[in-house]
Amino acid sequence: MSVTTNANDTTRAATRNTIQRALVLEAVRSLHNHPTSADVYEVVRERHPNISRATVYRNLGVLASRGDVLRVEVPNGADRYDFFNEPHYHALCRSCGQVSDVDMPYQNDLADQVRDAQGFAIDGHQIIFEGLCPSCQKR
Ligand SMILES: [Zn+2]
Ligand SMILES: [Zn+2]
Repeated sequence: MSVTTNANDTTRAATRNTIQRALVLEAVRSLHNHPTSADVYEVVRERHPNISRATVYRNLGVLASRGDVLRVEVPNGADRYDFFNEPHYHALCRSCGQVSDVDMPYQNDLADQVRDAQGFAIDGHQIIFEGLCPSCQKR
């Protein structure tokens, strides 16, 4: 084990970080069901058993803050991650917890209405509709 830090070590660490981030991004992009961080970890671990849960979770945070993936904050539930990173709306099934995309254009003027009324500088919003998914309605 080397205790010295030189440019090569720094480069190698940066390369490893880039590779790990790419693996996590690839896993999110392979899942189209709004996975939780635990779901993403399971997929990464199948192909790369040595990667730690902490590494996957940390990289999900980095990818979300860079806008490479969308983090969907679910009320009373685990955050979900979305390969589709444009602003869009979701529906949450209150029975099984499934999160789906809602086919509705993003309402930019909603933010304008809030700004006009409150002087608050809004830069985004999320909407999660709640109800029952088709398979839970059949039960
Ligand atoms: Zn359901
Ligand atoms: Zn979505």
